[in-house]
Amino acid sequence: MAGITIEKIEKTFGPTPVLRDVSLKIADGEFLTLLGPSGCGKSTLLRILAGLEVQTGGSVSIGERIVDGVRPKRRDVAMVFQSYALYPHMTVAQNMALPLRMRRLSSWQRLPLLGRFMPGTTATTADIERDVTRTAKSLGIGHLLARKPGQLSGGQRQRVAVGRAMVREPAVFLMDEPLSNLDAKLRVQMRAEIKELHNRLGVTFVYVTHDQSEAMTMSDRVAVMLDGELLQVAPPQEIYDDPDDRRVAEFIGSPK
Ligand code: ADP
Ligand code: MG
Repeated sequence: MAGITIEKIEKTFGPTPVLRDVSLKIADGEFLTLLGPSGCGKSTLLRILAGLEVQTGGSVSIGERIVDGVRPKRRDVAMVFQSYALYPHMTVAQNMALPLRMRRLSSWQRLPLLGRFMPGTTATTADIERDVTRTAKSLGIGHLLARKPGQLSGGQRQRVAVGRAMVREPAVFLMDEPLSNLDAKLRVQMRAEIKELHNRLGVTFVYVTHDQSEAMTMSDRVAVMLDGELLQVAPPQEIYDDPDDRRVAEFIGSPK
C-alpha cells in the first residue's frame, strides 16, 4: 500500500504551461478524485504519476520512494484509460495476462548488459492463468475469457481493463475517465462497482473525471482543478457547502 506526495509539479508543452505548482498529499488507501473541465490538465497529472509523462519541475513520491525518473513498470501503479487500450487481436484472458507475462519475462533479463536489476517473478503459466481467472470471476467476466475485445460490450471492455490493472496487484490505481465511454445507466452502475473494488482492495485510487456527480458520489476527497492549478482539495460535501473561491463555486454550480 502507498500514499502519494506530489510536490510543486510544473509541466509545460513547449511554451505552454499546463500544470502550475501542483502540490497534493494523497493518503494511503484514499479515493482521491481530480475533477475539472476538459483541458485543465487532469490526464497530464495522472500520466506524470504513472511515469508516462515527465514533469518539467517538482517531484512525486509513491509510498516512501521518490519515483522521478522511475519507469512506469517499476512504480507499483496500474492505470486504466478512458479508451481501455485493450489489444484487439488478443483474447480477454491474454489481455489480462499480459502484465503478468511481461513481469515474468523481465525476470529472465537480469543481464549485466541492461545495467539494472529488473523486478521479476517466477510465476508459471498455470499460476498466471489461475490469477487471471480468479480476477475475471471477481469482476463478473469469468465467462468472457476466450472472447476478443471486439466481441464485448462497452461495460464488459471496461471490466477487462480494470481486471488487467488488478492482476498486477498495484499499490495505486490510476483511472482516467474510465466510465466516459459508457451509457448513462451503466456509468452509474459502474461507479458502485469501482467503489466496491476500492473498499475490497483498500489501496489508493486516483480517479480522474470531468463529471461532478461521479466525483461527489465516489470520493473521499475531491481535488478541483482549473487551468492547470488545484483550487481546492476537500471532501465532497465541503466543496459543495464551502467552495474556496468563485471559480470553484462556478464550476460546481453552487452559490458563493
Ligand atoms: P484533461 O485531461 O484535463 O482534459 P490534459 O491533461 O489532457 O487535460 O491536457 C491539458 C492541456 O495540455 C491541454 O491544453 C492539452 O491540449 C495540452 N496537452 C496535453 N498533452 C499534450 C502534448 N503531448 N503536447 C502538447 N500539448 C498537450
Ligand atoms: Mg483527460
